[in-house]
Amino acid sequence: MATLKPCETCGKEIAAEARTCPHCGARNRGWGWVVNLLLISVSAVLVFFIVRAYNDRFHPFPACTSQRAAGEFKSTFDGSPLARTLNLTAIDVVRQESISDDTARQRRVCEVKLMLNNGRSVTYRFTFTLRPNGGYYIEGLPAGL
Ligand SMILES: [Zn+2]
Repeated sequence: MATLKPCETCGKEIAAEARTCPHCGARNRGWGWVVNLLLISVSAVLVFFIVRAYNDRFHPFPACTSQRAAGEFKSTFDGSPLARTLNLTAIDVVRQESISDDTARQRRVCEVKLMLNNGRSVTYRFTFTLRPNGGYYIEGLPAGL
């Protein structure tokens, strides 16, 4: 005996496996759309993880102009002797470059103008360096030293 279900268009009972509704002629979608939706969702999640893995491998550092990098610059400056007498008022990225002498030791260098609360500015060179087992560390020195 055929399982009955209401037609999505006209609401009349039709066989669940019918391709079209015998009353209104609308296509019976059955459960195929659920399978399609699941496949699309799983693909989207897979693409997300592949892109993230690719980014971690080839772009492990935050962009010099990113909010995350700005946070790193600030905390690096705050840990320096200059920060004992001066405060940072603004950060202005002057230049960024990526150095990749070999794939295992990639670096990103950000040249950054740090505006200080004494009205002066100092140009710092911050270097992100990849740790061998993932992640990175950051060092900052006034440019020209
Ligand atoms: Zn119908």
